Amino acid sequence: NARAQGRNTRNSFTPDIGRAAVDRLLLENQLHQALDGNELVLFYQPQIDMLSGRMIAVEALVRWNHPVHGLLGPDHFIPLAEKSELVLPLGEWVVRTACQQMQAWHLAGLTHIKRVAVNLSARQFEQADLPAFVASILKETQLEAGHLELEITESVAMEKPERTIKILNTLLDMGIRLALDDFGTGYSSMTYLKQLPITTLKIDASFVRNIETDRYDAEICTATISLARKLGLNVVAEGVETPGQFRFLRNIECHEAQGFLISHPLPAAELAQFQPPPNPD
Ligand code: C2E
Ligand code: MG
Ligand code: MG
Ligand code: MG
Repeated sequence: NARAQGRNTRNSFTPDIGRAAVDRLLLENQLHQALDGNELVLFYQPQIDMLSGRMIAVEALVRWNHPVHGLLGPDHFIPLAEKSELVLPLGEWVVRTACQQMQAWHLAGLTHIKRVAVNLSARQFEQADLPAFVASILKETQLEAGHLELEITESVAMEKPERTIKILNTLLDMGIRLALDDFGTGYSSMTYLKQLPITTLKIDASFVRNIETDRYDAEICTATISLARKLGLNVVAEGVETPGQFRFLRNIECHEAQGFLISHPLPAAELAQFQPPPNPD
């Protein structure tokens, strides 16, 4: 009957919902331990100058070396961390580790790496003391502000635009570089864009993917690069996977490229040995 069915329905759903919640709690607890137990690692993906083919910067990308599940990408735990308080200590760990690593590379003579880029999440941006925190890390690691680039996505920047602009201005005044990540995928208006104090635009991989075959993507990239150049911004194309994409982007005068064609994200020790492949003709 209906009542039994209703109960059955509840019975068949409740355990799953319960399990999902338990899993989340478990993972959250584990992530807590991961932070203390050195299970988080940063990988570094090279960014190369498209004309010289030289590596000039790296983006730090966090991974979780999970004792059971192996190496987990950020998509598996950053959203979870963002729902809890964990994203703050995690984000601080990322900034500190990236700055320490960059300073270590410089001391080891790898001075051709001019910047380390670090991704920030929305929650970090809500912290009033973000600039003070970054300043303390720079002091602690002795890294020059100009060697650090902070990346925020358009959607994060647009959540509280006025506030974001203020914080970004403070960071910019400190000499830190600022990149707008996943450019073109959010909802920003030109009004806000023009007020955003950034130094770098990162063209999202979704526009690069079909750049050779989709004339809309091709025009969007061409127009974005031209606009960015006129505004004096550095442009990095994300997700460059093929020589054809590389040639196309170089022809439309994109400054820098990042993607599997050049290198996957690498552990720090491998990054130090990395030599970019020769540029496609
Ligand atoms: P993102 O900042 O846009 O980073 C680029 C992502 O694209 C990275 O994925 C990278 O591994 C991947 N990628 C690079 N080249 C290629 C390519 O040629 N083809 C394809 N298909 N993918 C490519 P990953 O490492 O999984 O990171 C995903 C996102 O997680 C990042 O997107 C960033 O938003 C976030 N994230 C990563 N590290 C951190 C962190 O330390 N803190 C925060 N808050 N977010 C992070
Ligand atoms: Mg990024
Ligand atoms: Mg991106
Ligand atoms: Mg992304």
